[in-house]
Amino acid sequence: MGSQITCSATSRRPTDTADGSCVSAPRIRHVILDRDGVLNREAHDGGYVLVPAEFDWLPGALAALALLRQAGVRITVATNQSAVGRGLMSPEQLESVHAKMRLEAAEYGGALDDVLFCPHAPEAQCDCRKPAPRLLLEAVNRSGIAGEETLVVGDDHRDLEAAARAGLSSALVLTGKGRATRAQLMRQGIATPAYDDLLQLAVAVANSAVQRQGS
Ligand SMILES: [Mg+2]
Ligand SMILES: [Zn+2]
Repeated sequence: MGSQITCSATSRRPTDTADGSCVSAPRIRHVILDRDGVLNREAHDGGYVLVPAEFDWLPGALAALALLRQAGVRITVATNQSAVGRGLMSPEQLESVHAKMRLEAAEYGGALDDVLFCPHAPEAQCDCRKPAPRLLLEAVNRSGIAGEETLVVGDDHRDLEAAARAGLSSALVLTGKGRATRAQLMRQGIATPAYDDLLQLAVAVANSAVQRQGS
């Protein structure tokens, strides 16, 4: 991961923000969202969302999806769901959780275009569990939208690292593990663009004013 916010591409226009960050162009046309801690509350005590009733939207998340959709932004969810690989839930159970997520998002006007997940336990050493980049690269491939127009959004260091390894820009939201992640990055001297929640980020994306890290 880069140690600073960069505006490397020639098509980007640095602005004079005090922290040296940049308003990015080209416009974001695709967001790849982490799930737990970004869209929904994390399960208690490091547990897992195992049934649809445990999928609990974070405040503003549904409104954020609707706003992104109104702005013509493609929405992909890309999530590690190791509970499947750990034998704690079946693929069908995960599908039922995602069916609820998709339905409620659509009912709110924020339909999800694509939902990708890694079902593997860490021991499987697959190449799709974030921070590995494959899930994100697959999301870009399936979208038909250039990586430069894509933003990865997460609450965990793993999300940001996966983005960096996929050559994609990223932003942190301060829900879920987000505050702890930012504190950890700050201790390492890394300044990361951060938003209070997905709604604040969606407003910035819709206004083409989102700050992003890397690539
Ligand atoms: Mg998360
Ligand atoms: Zn995997």
